[in-house]
Amino acid sequence: MPLPLRRELAGLIPYGAPQLDVPVRLNVNENPHPLADDVVADIAADVAVAARGLNRYPDRDFLALREDLAAYLLAESGVALVPEQIWAANGSNEVMLHLLQAFGGPGRTVLSFAPTYSMYPEYARDTSTTWFAGQRAEDFTLDPDVAVAAIEVRAPSVVLLASPNNPTGTVLPTSTIETVLKAAADVPGGCVVVVDEAYGEFRRAGVPSALELLGTYPHLAVSRTMSKAFGLAGARVGYLAAAPELIDALRVVRLPYHLSGVTQAVARAALRHAPALMAQVGSLRDERDATVTWLRERGLKVADTDANFVLFGTFDDRHAIWQGLLDRGVLIREVGPEGWLRVSIGTEQEMMAFRNALVEVAAL
Ligand code: PMP
Repeated sequence: MPLPLRRELAGLIPYGAPQLDVPVRLNVNENPHPLADDVVADIAADVAVAARGLNRYPDRDFLALREDLAAYLLAESGVALVPEQIWAANGSNEVMLHLLQAFGGPGRTVLSFAPTYSMYPEYARDTSTTWFAGQRAEDFTLDPDVAVAAIEVRAPSVVLLASPNNPTGTVLPTSTIETVLKAAADVPGGCVVVVDEAYGEFRRAGVPSALELLGTYPHLAVSRTMSKAFGLAGARVGYLAAAPELIDALRVVRLPYHLSGVTQAVARAALRHAPALMAQVGSLRDERDATVTWLRERGLKVADTDANFVLFGTFDDRHAIWQGLLDRGVLIREVGPEGWLRVSIGTEQEMMAFRNALVEVAAL
C-alpha cells in the first residue's frame, strides 16, 4: 500500500547543506567562535535551575524572554519595544513558518525576490501557500519599481525580504523597504511585509535596521535570530518584532509550549552576555571586509555584503572549485546563481586556510 504522501512532496528530499566533518567549515554562516567559558557556565547554571522545573510545562508565553529580547533590541538598534511586540520560536525558520501559517494558506501568495534564502519556498509549500519569486537586479539589489509591480500583479498576503539577503549579503535601503510597505498597504485584504534580519548585527556602520519602521507600519514584521551573531545556532532561538496585533495572530497558530524551558533558559543566559558576544561581531565584520578586498584584488567578482558571508565568482565550473577546496579541508557552499560560491566568515586562521586553498584551486 502506498503512503498517502501529499502530491507536492513526492520525490522531494529534505533541505540542508552537507554536514561534513572537515577541519574548516565555512558553509552554513555559523559563528566560528564557541561560547566563552563564563557564558557556558552561566548557561549551565540556568539550565540546572530550569531542569528542576521540567516536570511542568514551560511558560507558554515566555514573557521574561520577550522582555530580555526587547531590552537587547533597544541596546542594539536604539528601538524601544514592549514585550507584547516580540515573538520567539525554535529558530527564525519556525518564526517565519508561524507567519505563513497565520497569513498565508491555500489561495494566497507569498512573494519574494530571487536569488534569496532557499527555505522561503519551503515555508510556502508546507503551508500550501503559492510561492512567487520576482527577480533582483544583476548586482542583487532590489529595484523598487520591480517590487511594486510584483505586489500589484500578485497581490500577495506576505512579502518576504531578507536584508542582509542570503546568499548575496545585500542590504535593502530603508527607502526600498518603505516603498514595499506602502505598496503592500494597498493590497486588497492586506499584506504583511517580513524583513528577515537574520544577519542584521553584521550590517556595516550607519546602515539602519528595519526595526526603526515598526512605529509607522503595523503590517511590518522584523525577524531576527540568535543563531548567527550570538553564536547560538545549536540552541535554536529565533525571534520577531511587530505590532502586538500581528503577534496575537502568531499566538493562535503556534503549538502549545513550543519553546522549551531549556531553550528559554539558554537564551536568557546568553542575552545577559550580549555585550561581550557582540564584541566578536566587530572582528567578524573586519574579517569579512578583508575577505572582500582580497577576493577583489585577485580579479574576482564579489557581491557587496553586510552579512557574515561573501558571495564571489564567477567560475565556469564552480563545482570543481568547491570540490577542490573540500579536498583541501575547506567546506564552502555551492549556492546562488550559476558560477557563484558562498563562503562564511570564520576565524582568522580559517580564512587563511580558505585563501591558501583558493589560490591553489583557482590558480589565482
Ligand atoms: N533567514 C536567513 C536569511 C537565513 O540565512 C537563515 C539561516 N541560514 C535563517 C533565516 C534561519 O536561521 P535560524 O532558523 O537558525 O534562526
